[in-house]
Amino acid sequence: MRARVPQRAFRLTYRGFDAADEGLRETLCALGNGYFVTRAAAPEASADEVHYPGTYLAGCYNRLITELQGRPIENEDLVNVPNWLPLTFRIEDGEWFHLSKVTVRRYRLDLDMRRGILTRLFAFTDDAGRQTEVTQRYLVHMGDKNVAALETEIVARNWSGRITVLSALDGTVTNSGVPRYRELDGRHLVPLRTERQADDSICLVVETSQSHVRIAEAARVRLHSRGVPREFQAEFEERPGYVALHIPYDLEQDVPLTVEKTVTLYSSRERGISEPGYAACRTLERSAGFAGLLDTQAMAWDYLWRRCAISLNDHGETNRTLHLHVFHALQTVSPNTVGLDVGVGARGLHGEAYRGHVFWDEMYIFPFFNRTLPELTRELLTYRFRRLPEARWLASAAGFDGALFPWQSGSDGREETQVIHLNPQSGHWLPDVSHLQRHVNAAIAYNIWQYWECTRDGEFLYARGAEMLLEIARMFASLTTYDRKLDRYEILGVMGPDEYHTGYPWAEKPGLDNNAYTNVMAVWVLSRALDVLRLLPAPRRAELVAALHLTRSETAVWEKIVRTMKVLFHDGVISQFEHYDRLEEFDWGGYTARYGNIQRLDRILEKEGDTVNRYKASKQPDALMLFYLFSMDQLTQLFAGLGYSLDEETAARTVRYYAKRTSHGSTLSGIVHAWVLRRTKRAQSWEFFVDVLRSDLHDTQGGTTREGIHLGTMAGTVDLVERGYLGLEIRDDALWFDPDLPSEVETLRYALLFRGHWIDVEVDGDRLSVGHRRSAAGAVTVGLGGKTELLKPGAKAVTTLDRRRSQAP
Ligand code: BGC
Repeated sequence: MRARVPQRAFRLTYRGFDAADEGLRETLCALGNGYFVTRAAAPEASADEVHYPGTYLAGCYNRLITELQGRPIENEDLVNVPNWLPLTFRIEDGEWFHLSKVTVRRYRLDLDMRRGILTRLFAFTDDAGRQTEVTQRYLVHMGDKNVAALETEIVARNWSGRITVLSALDGTVTNSGVPRYRELDGRHLVPLRTERQADDSICLVVETSQSHVRIAEAARVRLHSRGVPREFQAEFEERPGYVALHIPYDLEQDVPLTVEKTVTLYSSRERGISEPGYAACRTLERSAGFAGLLDTQAMAWDYLWRRCAISLNDHGETNRTLHLHVFHALQTVSPNTVGLDVGVGARGLHGEAYRGHVFWDEMYIFPFFNRTLPELTRELLTYRFRRLPEARWLASAAGFDGALFPWQSGSDGREETQVIHLNPQSGHWLPDVSHLQRHVNAAIAYNIWQYWECTRDGEFLYARGAEMLLEIARMFASLTTYDRKLDRYEILGVMGPDEYHTGYPWAEKPGLDNNAYTNVMAVWVLSRALDVLRLLPAPRRAELVAALHLTRSETAVWEKIVRTMKVLFHDGVISQFEHYDRLEEFDWGGYTARYGNIQRLDRILEKEGDTVNRYKASKQPDALMLFYLFSMDQLTQLFAGLGYSLDEETAARTVRYYAKRTSHGSTLSGIVHAWVLRRTKRAQSWEFFVDVLRSDLHDTQGGTTREGIHLGTMAGTVDLVERGYLGLEIRDDALWFDPDLPSEVETLRYALLFRGHWIDVEVDGDRLSVGHRRSAAGAVTVGLGGKTELLKPGAKAVTTLDRRRSQAP
C-alpha cells in the first residue's frame, strides 16, 4: 500500500441538486478506466443547458470541415461516442421521469474514489403527489476495460402502480459540449446498426464519418426485487442511431425494484477482436451481474491505489483533492491504455475542451506516472514515436531538418492547432498562431530523458527514445540562425509557453525572437542528444547514425550551439524574449478594479480593440519554466556553458519580476509559481498550491472544468509535493531528497518506484525516513541530508529535518 489513508480522503460528496453546478459535477465525478471515460450525467438527461452526457474513447478522433466566414475550417475532435447511460421510467402513461419535471426533496451525489463508484440518490414528488426514491450506482470497470454498469433502485413510497422502465443506447449525440465551438460542425457519428440481441439485450453500432472508427455498444437489463430476479416482457424501440427497451413492471409500494444495466463498449481501434459489434455482444453474454462487477471493480482500484495513494496530513481537503487528482489521472491513463496507441489529452477524456488534443502538458503529467506506473509513460512516449514520420514531414514542410512535433496532436500527429479561434467576449474569430510553440518538442525530449533517468529502460531508449531525441535536436539546430556579429546562435519567430505573446506589437509577422525558455531548452536538448550518442551501444549508434545520415560536421554544429546560444537579460533579469523591455507596463490595479477577474486579459484587451502583445503581462510562466524544470545547479551550469553567469540573486530577481507580471490565465501557472517560490516565499508557495488544488474542484477559472479536467495541473500537484516540497531529484544515479516542507505539512507518506526499486517515503514532524522495500532488486543509492547511503532491500535511512528552515518567512 502506498499509504494508509482514511476513507473520507477518498470521497467527494455533493448535497442538493444545483443546475448551475451540474456541468462541473459531471466532469469531477466522471468515471473511466483509461480506455474510455463517461461524464457523470444524469441517466435520464440528454444534452441541454444543464446536462451534458459524454463518453470519450481514448484515441477516437474524427475530422470535420465547417464553412466559416467564407472559408473551410477543418478540425479534428475527440468524438463524443454513443451515450450508454440513458435510463428513465414513467408511471402509467405519464411523462418520462426527468429531474426538471418533479419536486426534488433530497439529492446527493457521492463519488467513492477508492472503489471507482458513483452513487446518486434522490427523492421526489411528482405532480400527482406520488413520492418516489431512486438510488443509482455507476461504474466504468477498471479491470474489464470494455464494461460499464448502472444500477437503479426505485422505491414507490406512497403509491403502487405500473411503471415502464426505458433503457437505451443513444448514438444521436454530437460534440456540442463547448459553447465556443458550437458554430463548428460536431456531428461525427453515422448510424450503422441497431439490434435486439436477446429478450433483455440490445446493440448499437455507429461509425465516425471520416476516420471510420466503428463503435459498438451492447446493453443488457436485468430486474430484481428483494433479491429475486423478475421476469419481464420488453418492447423494442429502434430508429437510426438509437435503440431502447421499454420494460413494464408493476411496482408495489415500499418494495424496491432494482434495474441492472450492464454495458459493453468496443471500437475498431481495438486489437484482439473480430468486429466491435460481435465483441460487444460476446462480452455482454459473459459479464457478471452488478454485484460481481462491484467486487472486481473494487479489486482493480485497490491494486492501483496500493501504488498511487499519497497521504498528506492523512485527512482533510488537501489529501482528498490530491486523491481526486490521482483518481482522474488514472481514469485517463491506466494499465488499460497499454496497446491502444494513444497520447494523453490536456483535458483528460472528460470533455471536449481543446478537442482532446495532446499538448506539452505531458511534461506535468509524466512525472507522476514515471514514479508509479512507468510502463504507462513508455506507452505514451510510444504514441509520439509512432508519429515520428509525420513530425519529420512537418519539419520539412516548415523548412527545418529532423522532426517537428506539433503543438497540438491528435490521431496521426499532424498539426491540429486551430487556425482561428473565437474570443467569446468579443465574438471575434481571430487568427491562432500558437503552433509557433516549438518548445513542445523540448518537452518531448525532456520527457524521454526523465523516463530514462527514472527507469533506465535501455530497450526503450535505444529502440525509440534516442531516435526521437536526435531528430528533435536536429530540428532545434535547424531552427537556429547564426548571428555573425555576436558569434552567437539565436532562434527567431517562435512563441514561448506564455501564450499572450504571439508577436511584436510593431511587427506584422507573428513570432518572437530569442525566447529564453526555447533557447535554453534547445541547448539542453542538443546536449542530451550528444550524450545519447555517447550512451548508445556501438551497434545501435552505428545503425542510427547511418539511418539518420548524421554527420560529424552536423554534431560539430550542435557542439557549437550548446556553447554559444543567445540568452538576453534586461534590468538584471532573464528577458522572456528579445525586446521584452520595450513593452509597456500593464495597469494591473486599474484592470482588476474594472473587471475583477483578469486571468484572461488577452480576451479583455482584444475586446477593447487593444492587444496584450503590447504589455509586460504573461498568461503563465515562461522564462520561469527553467527554474521549474532544472535545479539551480543545473541551470547555473547550463548558463555557464553559454558564457553567462546566473547566480541566485539573478534567479530570485527574475522570479520576482515575472511573478508580478503574470495573470495566471492557465491553471498550469500556479504549479510553477508554487514551485519557484517554495524555498524563498514558503507561505506564498503554499497559497499557490492550495489555489491549484482548488482550480478544478471549484472551477476557479469560471466554467472551464465543465469542459474537461486540467490533467497537467492535477498530476502536477502530486509532483509538486514529491519533487518540489520533498526535493526529490535523481542525480549521479542516486535518489536525492532535499525537503523544504511548508509548515502546513505535518505528515506525508507515499511510495515510489525508482529503477525497479520500491521506495517508501515517510515524513512525520521533523523525521524523514526512506525505506527500500524487500525485493530481489539489489541495493539503491539514496541521498539524504547531503550524504549518500547505499540502501539494501529491507533497509531504511532516517534523518532529522530542520523544520525551522521551513518555517522561515
Ligand atoms: C495553456 C497551455 C496548455 C493548454 C492545454 C493553455 O491554456 O496556455 O500551456 O498546453 O492550455 O492545457
